[in-house]
Amino acid sequence: MTPHDHQRLHGIAVSPGVAVGPLVVVAPAPVAPPDEPAPTDVAASLAQVRQVLQEVAEQLLARAHEAGPQARTILETDAMMARDPGLAQAIEEQLTQGKGPATAVTEAIAGYSATFETLGGYMAERVTDLLDIRDRVVARLLGLPSPGVPTLTTGSILAAHDLAPAETATLTRETCLGIIVEAGGPTSHTAIVAAGMGIPAIVQVAGVLSVPSGTPVAMDGGTGEVTINPSIEAQTQLNQRAGRREAALASAIGPGATSDAHPVALLANIGTLDDAHHAAASSAEGVGLFRTEFLFLGRDTMPSLEEQTQTYTEVFSLFSSRRVVVRTLDAGADKPLKFADLGPEENPALGRRGIRLGMARPELLNVQLAALASAQQITGVDLRVMAPMIATESEAQWFATHTRSAGLTQVGVMIEIPAAAVRSHHILPHVDFASLGTNDLAQYTMGADRMQGELADLLDPLEPALLDVVALACEGGQTTGKPIGVCGEAGGNPLSALVLVGLGVSSLSMAPTRLPAVRYALSLHTLEQCQQLAKVAREASSAHEARTAVLELVDPALRDVI
Ligand code: PEP
Ligand code: MG
Repeated sequence: MTPHDHQRLHGIAVSPGVAVGPLVVVAPAPVAPPDEPAPTDVAASLAQVRQVLQEVAEQLLARAHEAGPQARTILETDAMMARDPGLAQAIEEQLTQGKGPATAVTEAIAGYSATFETLGGYMAERVTDLLDIRDRVVARLLGLPSPGVPTLTTGSILAAHDLAPAETATLTRETCLGIIVEAGGPTSHTAIVAAGMGIPAIVQVAGVLSVPSGTPVAMDGGTGEVTINPSIEAQTQLNQRAGRREAALASAIGPGATSDAHPVALLANIGTLDDAHHAAASSAEGVGLFRTEFLFLGRDTMPSLEEQTQTYTEVFSLFSSRRVVVRTLDAGADKPLKFADLGPEENPALGRRGIRLGMARPELLNVQLAALASAQQITGVDLRVMAPMIATESEAQWFATHTRSAGLTQVGVMIEIPAAAVRSHHILPHVDFASLGTNDLAQYTMGADRMQGELADLLDPLEPALLDVVALACEGGQTTGKPIGVCGEAGGNPLSALVLVGLGVSSLSMAPTRLPAVRYALSLHTLEQCQQLAKVAREASSAHEARTAVLELVDPALRDVI
């Protein structure tokens, strides 16, 4: 059923801000119909497929002309693959065997992909491009719109089933006014990338893909509400509400602190140079998480020492006297890096990712650490370097030794696996600080994939089980005297931020657009009140109950703005 005018759809708000604009729906990848009839005239079918391959090659070349140098080379190579006579021949063989055109293309490309995979290296890396060509050709053959994120030329709101982090990263704030996805979760990397770019975003919006492209929609990334074909009045109300919220939030200024002056450093999460510029211009007291792998998504080879040094120098120089916490490469799971791949895995989220990959490929880590040390020397920034996905004391020890011998003095670990939280009093003596990655900590505590939107309820930042695990980590921090911050999405949510401070964390890192609401929330409560909120949340029997209990206790002024 097509949603009607003024109808409201709801989802989970993951990146604040309001937007009004025409919807552009990202078409899903087409699938050849299982009962596609055999061609009555093989020669005519082949001619049709050849024509479509040619059109797709031209389309790719047209995009190559508009792209930057790196993307241009990739798109030109893709166009060449679409024109490869060997591919047309493989399709012809399938057509001759009685396969319909879309099926013939799908099977021929499956065969090609398998060969490329076996060849490994550069050829294996081209498989994604081959599959992209397949989807474009099949869509044309079936008369469907081209799949994938289109190039936006005017301000639009993008709607998709889901977006990969690499796809989201190609968007710009100028043309992408907002993102609405049907799937996704609040801690999925797409949500994180959108928040980092300051693009309002809502996930888990059922029905959004039935709205035709071009329909005007209004969205509020603070409340999770989407209005189809909004009246002028609704648009005005939306903007007024956003204005009131902004005015209230602007009343809290300065470094983060509770109302009784207990300091809580408010820091920014960044992943790209653009993010770094936004964060530097924001009220962030520094960077609490630099996701370095985001710099290199889509790269085929490891960036050189010189290139990394230059990039880090550029970022660090933006923060001169402010702290910058860098996380070493956290490749794997939904952030695969072609140059840091240890082969296919059954369960990548439980596989050789994060520090495990760093230990298996120490040359990658060494280049990164050397580049960080050089950039620190050049800029004199207050640099702190931490490892992702630490599970054991020996991993922490290995990382600390490795990092210190590269000349870096402030070493930390991310606590995002329950084992590390439970054993924080054993892990922390080896390092100088820790940062709680609540996104993965929730995923592993609850056994719920953070990329699977249907499980979003289990990943609620106020889930009492998660809070208990955080409390254990904080106890270790207290016994060892090591500071513990939070850099997962829970730190950017005003309610969970208060609870986390009550549990003992000393800094909160988040997308810069979230800072005002968290600063405001802190300014309305004493440390003792935060501790009380933490207590009631932990005593609750569910995340829902915890939220209700916390909402009852918080200052009413906060309720008006969240
Ligand atoms: C986390 O897991 O909470 C975290 C901050 O790391 P990422 O989201 O990049 O996995
Ligand atoms: Mg993580």
